[in-house]
Amino acid sequence: MTDTIRWDRDADGVVVLTIDDPARSANTMNAAFVADLETVLDRLTAERDDITGVIVTSAKKTFFAGGDLDRLGSLGPDQAADVYASSMHLKGLLRRLETLGRPVVAAINGSALGGGLEIALACHHRIAADDGRIEIGFPEVTLGLLPGAGGVVRTVRLLGVAQALLTVLLRGQRHRPAAALEHGLVHELAPRDELLARAKAWIAANPTAVQPYDVKGYRIPGGTPAQASFAANLPAFPATLRKELKGAPYPAPRNILAAAVEGTQVDLDTAFAIEGRYFAELATGQIAKNMIKAFFFDLQQANARGTNAAPFTKVAVLGAGMMGAAIAYVCAKAGMRVLLKDVTVEAAERGKQYSVKVLAKKPFLPAEEILARITPTADPADLAGCDLVIEAVFEDPALKHKVFAEIQDVVAPDALLCSNTSTLPISLLADGVTRQQDFVGLHFFSPVDKMPLVEVIKGAATSDAALDRALGVVRQLKKTPIVVNDSRGFFTSRVIGTFTGEGLLMLAEGVAAPSIEQASLQAGYPAAVLALMDELTLTLLRKIRLAYGDAWTPTPADALIDRMIDEFGRPGRSGGAGFYEYTDGKRDRLWPGLREHFAKPDVDVPFVDMQERMLFAEALESVKCLDEGVLTSVADANVGSILGIGFPGWTGGVLQYVNQYQGGLPGFVARSRELAARYGSRFEPPALLLAKAERGEQFS
Ligand code: NAD
Repeated sequence: MTDTIRWDRDADGVVVLTIDDPARSANTMNAAFVADLETVLDRLTAERDDITGVIVTSAKKTFFAGGDLDRLGSLGPDQAADVYASSMHLKGLLRRLETLGRPVVAAINGSALGGGLEIALACHHRIAADDGRIEIGFPEVTLGLLPGAGGVVRTVRLLGVAQALLTVLLRGQRHRPAAALEHGLVHELAPRDELLARAKAWIAANPTAVQPYDVKGYRIPGGTPAQASFAANLPAFPATLRKELKGAPYPAPRNILAAAVEGTQVDLDTAFAIEGRYFAELATGQIAKNMIKAFFFDLQQANARGTNAAPFTKVAVLGAGMMGAAIAYVCAKAGMRVLLKDVTVEAAERGKQYSVKVLAKKPFLPAEEILARITPTADPADLAGCDLVIEAVFEDPALKHKVFAEIQDVVAPDALLCSNTSTLPISLLADGVTRQQDFVGLHFFSPVDKMPLVEVIKGAATSDAALDRALGVVRQLKKTPIVVNDSRGFFTSRVIGTFTGEGLLMLAEGVAAPSIEQASLQAGYPAAVLALMDELTLTLLRKIRLAYGDAWTPTPADALIDRMIDEFGRPGRSGGAGFYEYTDGKRDRLWPGLREHFAKPDVDVPFVDMQERMLFAEALESVKCLDEGVLTSVADANVGSILGIGFPGWTGGVLQYVNQYQGGLPGFVARSRELAARYGSRFEPPALLLAKAERGEQFS
């Protein structure tokens, strides 16, 4: 009858609607589906007397994937009225389903995210397959959107404002079925092959089911602002949100909060209209477009690389320090046997203790099995048969050469040789091995078990096959790769260096430290710039500078770092004192000495300039990386900058930031020149940017 929804009516009068878009691997809320949904509802209405109930399910691996991001990623502000209208149309259809006068059950056989959960919430009863791979939730907020097909309104009416916001809407959590049951998003779990039978049983037992929100006197759990106790707590919501966002310009959480609270004070239809307006505003705005591009399309492109080559089975991790210990853990978790080597067995054993500690906090993982895969050692002979080597010893070329020389003839003859260096050129390190074509950079980020990015670095001699195998490692570890060509600091370390450098320069110019911190947070950086440097340690920043030797361009920030370390004894958090004061290792307040020694009362840097100096410094450096061939794609720049070095997510990544700047590339060029005139030639737009601006192109 329709293309995307199959209709099967059984002898008891139960209609099973099976969503199965023939054009795609997953069902989405595209135009064909919406049109088919309308046809199906017309038929349900017409044949109502012969129908005892309805079951909605899917023939795909997932139940329903969500909105049509191709379309959502291309909407402009002048389409707000259309977006509102289509959101209301869809809500009208789902409303017809829930007011059909027959029990409707969602048999959730696979992940129900976004639009999928909205369809399920319009059903009277939800049964999910008891399968730990299934995810249920509203990830819209992570794309700068809100669930605009009734998702906000129904979640709030189902769970109450506070629960809906905290467990479902504001953070975009993806719940496993057991958690979805616990939070009240679904009513029961069942083995996959019993879903339909259970749904039919529920229909038989509840022939007159209706949506509770329509029942007169239905009360929203936890109350509404009409009640004094609730109203008294209301101001805490926006305050908490602001605190959590640290002033970063994310519009979606604000709109979700507003739609949720305002919706409780009106009838269902008006609440839908309010939700529709807040949705249209987000969907036609720039930030949702940026986030959809980065977190969906660019991410998909980055993850699509690498073949499904045979998995690595035995890895040698050289160095059991902070990085090596954590790399050993993620490899063991992914099923590899790990030989964790340090200079002594005791040091290697200490490295293994990291896994013990992490696993103690994760009772749902098979700790014993994972730990049994990690063997601490100090003997190179133990590395026989390893098909993968990941080196993470001190950042010292001579030492790195030495440890590779020690093991290269012991491991498997075709073992992939990787270094986790964050700054040393891969080609320089490859000089130390006989099989340079098998040598590649595998740059992890700290903390390794949480950070999703791995920067894969192709040295001058690295073969395509080795690169492909390195991408296989990243895939095996379920992380996201970006691929860059060799250069000092590669892409990520080089670009983040301009961010920290700009923070330091402002401090050296005399800008007040609290303003610098606020500017970075309000620009959307996850960590304030001085706080970040304390974590990295000022000693490390100095080491990097010294390693550059003559290639380093001196700046007034160099002296500032030297004074912090040598004169004031404040090398950063691990040394107990840095730009901040620390009590028991916890960051306290900014060190008052910063005001005394560095702040100049007459310095005048506008707040917006502070924010844009940091954002532009990183963007301009990324353009240079692209121009020099260090970066191989724009998607890598965007994904790598957000996932690896904390470039603000709302921008869509470091090159999308340039694209979307007011006035596009010409606007960005003009502003770069302004910043260059005021703050220094490092802001002069590079040739590639000028050429692209002139040709009317974007970074794509
Ligand atoms: P770390 O100082 O914590 O650990 C280095 C370890 O190497 C120590 O345990 C040391 O005993 C061991 N080691 C020294 N000589 C050895 C030898 N001959 N054989 C085996 N082990 C030996 O350092 P880290 O922070 O883990 O950094 C390691 C590497 O990872 C460096 O190249 C660094 O640039 C890179 N890296 C660090 C970070 C970070 O955030 N710390 C991030 C990405 C990459």
